[in-house]
Amino acid sequence: MLALYLNDKLELRDLPRPEPQPGEVLIRVRLAGVCRTDLEVLQGYHGFRGVPGHEFVGQVVAPEDSSWLNRRVVGEINLACGQCLRCRQGLAHHCQQRQVLGMKGRNGTFAQYLTLPAANLHSVPEEVADDAAVFTEPLAAALQVLETAAFSPDSRVLVVGDGSLGLQISWILALHGAEVHLVGRYPEHLELAGAYGVSTYLEPEMTQKDFDVVVEASGSPSGLELALARVRPRGAVVLKSTYSGGYPLNTADLVVPEVRLLGSRCGPFPAALRLLQKDWIDPRPLIYRRYPLAQGLEALAYAQEKGVLKVLLECGE
Ligand SMILES: [Zn+2]
Ligand SMILES: [Zn+2]
Repeated sequence: MLALYLNDKLELRDLPRPEPQPGEVLIRVRLAGVCRTDLEVLQGYHGFRGVPGHEFVGQVVAPEDSSWLNRRVVGEINLACGQCLRCRQGLAHHCQQRQVLGMKGRNGTFAQYLTLPAANLHSVPEEVADDAAVFTEPLAAALQVLETAAFSPDSRVLVVGDGSLGLQISWILALHGAEVHLVGRYPEHLELAGAYGVSTYLEPEMTQKDFDVVVEASGSPSGLELALARVRPRGAVVLKSTYSGGYPLNTADLVVPEVRLLGSRCGPFPAALRLLQKDWIDPRPLIYRRYPLAQGLEALAYAQEKGVLKVLLECGE
């Protein structure tokens, strides 16, 4: 099968089709999404070697006796052991032995086929088109913000970052009735948030402060700096970004205003699929370009250009 493979650099390769192990299924990938985390993986995050990519929609093609056979699916990216203390405490996303699709110990979605445990799958409702379903994983990650911070419907919230994730977070918070503000760098991105009633600002024009909650999704250390400057005392900063170079935190910025800094990662797939099924969120305006998998190297290069939102790979044969 055709796949993108990360060795010392990213290459297009012909790999053997993976064999599903007991409890697993073989999935033919229809569409894969390129995410900022994938670009970090290419820069050496986790020291991963293999097929990158974790966002996908596909169709189960084996084994023959699986109840999932022929179903259109999306899949959760954490493969937990199911046995350890964390798994038994309901913290499977934090299983210490876990593999992570396209990031850690497990080949990912930039390929014609992948395998996943059946337990990781969610059926895609018929009404949800492939190019919307491929956003299930990032939308779930955006929804996790609700779980991370205690929101009240009348919270004043600032989202920092007008990339794909920041925009999806602003949509979800706006649907909750919160007063949502978004600060970013690209007028054409801010417009996509404006459509959901979000108040938007280009960074230099941003003067508002004292937000109850600030969500940092810019992917850049300057985003956290801005978040800490704009949150109110005793407010919360939800951190969705990892910074490859780290962050020089001055603890006084948290201690003196008694601000809570909260990490937030993967989220609930069923809720994301419900939002897509009801058409309350249509993520497709985020799609900038689609490439066949055979042009995957070109696609990944384009995804790294400034201001580019979602890039999709068409992985079907
Ligand atoms: Zn992602
Ligand atoms: Zn475990």
